[in-house]
Amino acid sequence: MDEPIKVLSDKCVGCTLCVDTCPSNAITMKDSVAVIDLNKCTLCGACLEACRFDAIVIRKKADTGVDLAAYRNVWVFAEQIDGTLQSITHELLGKGRELANDLGMKLCAVLLGHNVGDKTAELIRRGADIVIVADKPELAYFQDEIYAAVLIDLIRKHKPSIMLCGATTMGRSLVSRVAVAVHAGLTADCTGLAIDPETKTLLQTRPAFGGNIMATIVTPNHRPQMATVRHKVMKEAGVDPAHQGETIVAEIAAAVLQSRARRVKFVPETGTTQNIAEANIIVSGGRGLQDPANFSIIRDLAQTLGAGVGASRAAVDAGWIPYSQQVGQTGKTVCPKIYIACGISGQIQHLVGMSSADIIVAINKDPDAPIFKLATYGLVGDLFKIVPLLTREFKKALGK
Ligand SMILES: Cc1cc2nc3c(=O)[nH]c(=O)nc-3n(C[C@H](O)[C@H](O)[C@H](O)COP(=O)(O)OP(=O)(O)OC[C@H]3O[C@@H](n4cnc5c(N)ncnc54)[C@H](O)[C@@H]3O)c2cc1C
Repeated sequence: MDEPIKVLSDKCVGCTLCVDTCPSNAITMKDSVAVIDLNKCTLCGACLEACRFDAIVIRKKADTGVDLAAYRNVWVFAEQIDGTLQSITHELLGKGRELANDLGMKLCAVLLGHNVGDKTAELIRRGADIVIVADKPELAYFQDEIYAAVLIDLIRKHKPSIMLCGATTMGRSLVSRVAVAVHAGLTADCTGLAIDPETKTLLQTRPAFGGNIMATIVTPNHRPQMATVRHKVMKEAGVDPAHQGETIVAEIAAAVLQSRARRVKFVPETGTTQNIAEANIIVSGGRGLQDPANFSIIRDLAQTLGAGVGASRAAVDAGWIPYSQQVGQTGKTVCPKIYIACGISGQIQHLVGMSSADIIVAINKDPDAPIFKLATYGLVGDLFKIVPLLTREFKKALGK
């Protein structure tokens, strides 16, 4: 079959169900047989599902050369910084374990770095059946060009069915390069992953259209099925000291480790408090603060509580606080025990980044602010009075 989609004229009964179903108006009837205009058809498959007579066939992409059966196992990229495995790695292992079990496949962690061999045991204790480790001086620090080249090399050699990576700064930069090179799709920023029980493909769910809908994306014809996963959304894998696994030391050719970039030095960002993605308590400020100097009252409360400082995009866009502190759709997703939103209205793009906090405290002078719909505790009033009052009372209660 040369065409990507075809009507079998001996089976078509001219019922026009496909014509009515086609969202692209690509199907017309000619001599009581459906005719598909390939210039309009998007190969969405709606007609295929509508046809009760099996009269429409779509060419399976497997015909284009991807041997789906050759791809096995669920891979997670084990993100480490300076030899410390990042918590996103544990989250990926938790979800990866479930997916591997559902598929009857193995869970494999891919660890790149230098002098990181001692981390393989930790990955196995967290559920990895296999750890592929590439340990080279060139991999001591994350550089997307070299890391991507190594990962591409490993994917070509081992052919994983699924490849998961954190939707972190490192992960986003890394796997987008890898996906292009291995001709796979990439679903970025997933908040849900599952296996379709019928097709055994990966269902990759992520918010779309500003968080107003959840879109589930499948990759039926290409491998690996690649996704980045939002931090703090999936549960971390537990530690099982009895879990057994195998370590494979990857042979990496010198040519793969070449880079056009060179790391000169590392300059840590200054002026920020703790990484909000890891914080148990976050105090966030929004446009209601009115002035960058007023962030000092947010910082005072945060310091008293040992909390991180977050912000709405309005505050970040105004240049009051660095982007690294932004919570929301285009910022960080956080999942603290307590989230205190001060002078933040609670637009959907902010809420998608913090709605899974255990307790949400909202301080806003507008009783109709949308944030109150989500808040566990709402304080209607002037933040300039309430926040310093809270700081004072917490200081007393905590003996500071
Ligand atoms: C594609 C896209 C992506 C986006 N991504 C993000 C994102 O990642 N994160 C994000 O936050 N936003 C994001 N936004 C922007 C979002 O839509 C809102 O514009 C933004 O969250 C508003 O920030 P805010 O709540 O601080 O400001 P506002 O909406 O202006 O709210 C300020 C609030 O402060 C209150 N206030 C004022 N003075 C006081 C006072 N003295 N005491 C108490 N309360 C007071 C007001 O009643 C008001 O509710 C995005 C938008 C788009 C289109």
